[in-house]
Amino acid sequence: MIKTEKILHLKSCRGRKVRVVREHYLRERVPCYSSLCQADCANDGKVLPPDLTHYVVPDAAVVVDYLEILEFRELQGIVFTQTACKAVQHSKGARQYNRLRNLLKDSRHDCVLFANEFQKYSYCLREKGESQEKWHTRCVYSAAVWYYNHLAGMIPIVMITEDQDAVAQYSCLSSGVYVVSVQDYLQMFWEQLDAARELYSSISQVLQEKESEGMEKEYAEHLPAEVLEAGIKSGRYIWGTLNVNKHRAQNEASVMTEGISKKNSDSSSCVLVRGGKNRNRAVHGDVVVVELLPKSEWRGKVTALAEGQGEEKSGEDSESKPLPTGRVVGILQRNWRDYVVTFPLREGPQSQSRNFQRILAVPWDRRIPKIRISTQQADALQDHRVVVRIDSWESTSLYPNGHSVRVLGRTGELETEVQTILIENSIHVAPFSDAQLREMPVNSPEKPWRVDPAQVVQRRDLRESHLVFSIDPQGCEDVDDTLSVRSLADRGLLELGVHIADVTHFVTEGSLTDLEARSRATTYYLADRRYDMLPAVLSADLCSLLGGVDRFAMSVMWELDAHTLAVNNVWYGRTLIRSSYQLHYELAQALLNGEKAEVPELAKIGSEEKDAKLAELTQALELLTHIARHLRAQRDRGGALELEGVEVRAQLDEEKNITALVPRQPLEVHETVAECMIYANHWVARKIQELFPHQALLRGHPPPRQEFFQQLVESATARGFTIDTRTNKALADSLNRAVDPQDPLVNRLLRMMATHAMSQALYLSTGAQSQDQYYHYGLALDRYTHFTSPIRRYADIVVHRLLTAAIEMESGVGPHRALANSKELEEMAQHINKKNRAAQRAQKLSTELFQCLFFKERDPQTDECCIADGVIYSIRDNGVLVFVPEYGVKGPVYMKNREGQVVATGQDGSCEWQSGSVRRYPDHISTTSSCGTSTFRLFDHITVRISVQSTHCHADSLNLEVISNKPHHSTKPQQPHSQGHCQLVQEVVRLAEEAYHQAQEKAARHHKFSREEREFCQSKTPNLYSLLEEVRELALMDLDMVPQVCATTA
Ligand SMILES: [Zn+2]
Repeated sequence: MIKTEKILHLKSCRGRKVRVVREHYLRERVPCYSSLCQADCANDGKVLPPDLTHYVVPDAAVVVDYLEILEFRELQGIVFTQTACKAVQHSKGARQYNRLRNLLKDSRHDCVLFANEFQKYSYCLREKGESQEKWHTRCVYSAAVWYYNHLAGMIPIVMITEDQDAVAQYSCLSSGVYVVSVQDYLQMFWEQLDAARELYSSISQVLQEKESEGMEKEYAEHLPAEVLEAGIKSGRYIWGTLNVNKHRAQNEASVMTEGISKKNSDSSSCVLVRGGKNRNRAVHGDVVVVELLPKSEWRGKVTALAEGQGEEKSGEDSESKPLPTGRVVGILQRNWRDYVVTFPLREGPQSQSRNFQRILAVPWDRRIPKIRISTQQADALQDHRVVVRIDSWESTSLYPNGHSVRVLGRTGELETEVQTILIENSIHVAPFSDAQLREMPVNSPEKPWRVDPAQVVQRRDLRESHLVFSIDPQGCEDVDDTLSVRSLADRGLLELGVHIADVTHFVTEGSLTDLEARSRATTYYLADRRYDMLPAVLSADLCSLLGGVDRFAMSVMWELDAHTLAVNNVWYGRTLIRSSYQLHYELAQALLNGEKAEVPELAKIGSEEKDAKLAELTQALELLTHIARHLRAQRDRGGALELEGVEVRAQLDEEKNITALVPRQPLEVHETVAECMIYANHWVARKIQELFPHQALLRGHPPPRQEFFQQLVESATARGFTIDTRTNKALADSLNRAVDPQDPLVNRLLRMMATHAMSQALYLSTGAQSQDQYYHYGLALDRYTHFTSPIRRYADIVVHRLLTAAIEMESGVGPHRALANSKELEEMAQHINKKNRAAQRAQKLSTELFQCLFFKERDPQTDECCIADGVIYSIRDNGVLVFVPEYGVKGPVYMKNREGQVVATGQDGSCEWQSGSVRRYPDHISTTSSCGTSTFRLFDHITVRISVQSTHCHADSLNLEVISNKPHHSTKPQQPHSQGHCQLVQEVVRLAEEAYHQAQEKAARHHKFSREEREFCQSKTPNLYSLLEEVRELALMDLDMVPQVCATTA
């Protein structure tokens, strides 16, 4: 090892010059991470595969400026030099550096890190007078040459650089080492990768423009980080995340403060930021530092319903009481993501010029400012949605500068809009790669999957000893839970078993499939499709606990006292099962009710044997019901909540399409199954928390904040009900009493408000939170986790691994793998929480998209579908909020329009606009005009007309307009209210498919769509069972999501 001294002249990202002297040790052996290595390098971990045509070594400046391109998974064999990584760290800061580190860690990306500066033969000393850039380039070139020699010329090396001198200087120096520009590289090697080439031209354009920016200041400079830190410490400044009001995006934003100073203890935890100058280039989601304005300049939030989103007026709207108001003085962290924008429509003749034009693109998310983009495609892309990234926002620029990343398609087309929803929620669901699919077990007619005999020995074999069955909605494909129950009469005990798909047997920790599942974190359900977390061979086949086949399971089995049902013993472990019956709810309930029912599994056997088997099954179901009733009663005493009580079930035809969502008869057996799952989740939570008090994954549901219940309490009072919100038990009891026999919707809306007031249930690591945070308010359990759905939730996979480790530890043989530490687990919990929120938002947005597409086809003046019954559930200053049960739509109905006219009601209840005034009361709103006074009360049924408010750049929205103050009785046959939603999805899908086939015919002539098509078609048959299970969760979070389907548990 050789010691040298290394002198670095660094410019930090804040612009300070630093001279650093470091001792530097050189070694002969530095791993090359190449599978072609003949020199016995210590290549632990990721290595470059043998079947590549070349390795590519990007210059430091290329990594700094074009990392996005290097992130394309198609690019293989990338060697990142230490020199380049350090350059990123110094010139781009921690965020970009972490991005590079994650890229290097991610085994789905074919790239490695070479510590060239520690390698004796590749390290270069900086020469006198040599610029840092030239030195970096020389180091990288030297590393490229080292690779070529180290691998004995077995593979050519391509160095890519933007330095034209370097291309000229180095390209002929060493055979086998090629030096080319990024553009030439992409052209030569990745000609088919249009996206990368387009991205290159858009980034290089931005870089060129940066050099020629104007100097006039539009905004105040941000303060240096040291000043911000000192200011926060002294209490002069406050910091938090900027949240832009989407209804008043240009004017109103607030900062939820994380470090409000003690001096201002009278102020709330929210600071208002009004206007663009005060927002000072902060973008929604950024972590900012604000300075409070003098009290005389404090303002309130606008309280009226915002009409006509986009156009904003100011001044005349009434405001809430003044809030602390401030201005942004600096930014701690940018949280920029990919944004979908729309290229503006251009007037006048279309120029054919190939020159770059600067345009202002409008983000789909109203909270994001317009982004200036240079493009050659301004004309071609008018009316298209495009993904862009923001590069910078200088104080001299009114708008941020960005570059386009890829084109999604024409606005208004279903696929464009669905992709927009995914990108806006940072959901990435590329098809599973071939490498991932190669990890999967095979199960085909030629090569059927069989149980490995080694596994039979290791597992508890329940195939002969236990009657195992599943109960699901009709048509369910992915069965992840099964049950068993039997009497151990000789010992006075009952044995209850819950057997869950053993997903972690097939998904090895750290495998490509595992990484992909982890980054997805959940299966995504949209209105017309789903994106699975795991490949179909697992989710619909080998992990699915189908009837009549051998399957691996993770089981929890309780021995209960036959009389008191007290737990005598619990066994956790891996099992081998063969489910005897795949029942559906109605069938199971029919058997319980003693009705005559045909069990498909028993169709072909003799009647005597059939009777015996039927009796055995019925007895098991009865025993299960008995146990579940007891468990439910136990939780009820503890205060478990039943939220929104309407349940629905999916009806699927032979092709597994949903034909209807009809309200489910409230069957007890449904609750029975749910109760057993809750029990299993609870007992697994106990187990892992006891064994890993600092590193177990639990699911907590924090108690709600009392002030959030205000609307619920006031609304209930208006109807003569008292709601007690002091405890979950009191709330549950009072909600049960608040039933209007004349109108079942009242109770439903109250439960909806209760749900709305709730906190979200969240995953947490036991090591990161105190024990009182473990409590699950909704279920009234001291500990809870997710164990029962590993096919579609990554949290359950983590919990299965924890349970496995716990079992190994108790039997003294493990754990075999190191567990994630508390910090890692907490990060994982946060990641899953984030992805769950994204999944919910995407689901909600896609439902709204379908609602809009449905109504867009109809003329609101003539089409009967556009007239519906609505219920008022909230009173506002200038209108009311209405729920339309038939379509599951919620939205504002204005009582006063922009012209100052108010809704006036005639003798027959019909409404029209007249000049007049409006007045708001706690439980009603009144309008006065020459026709007299009209009053609209909470829970009144009114008739509304639904139309679509189309916008070019954003999502369409539905517009509700009152046309009569009387209820609407449909002339159509009375429909169950959930059915409308489903018909609507079908109708829109049908139209979209027609359009799709037309496009395909066109594509036969052009064929350029195929990549998108492949992406979209991952799964076109949504599994409503899973959707409904998901909805159970939603019931504890935000009922806005799927307002028409709701359920009981978490
Ligand atoms: Zn080597």
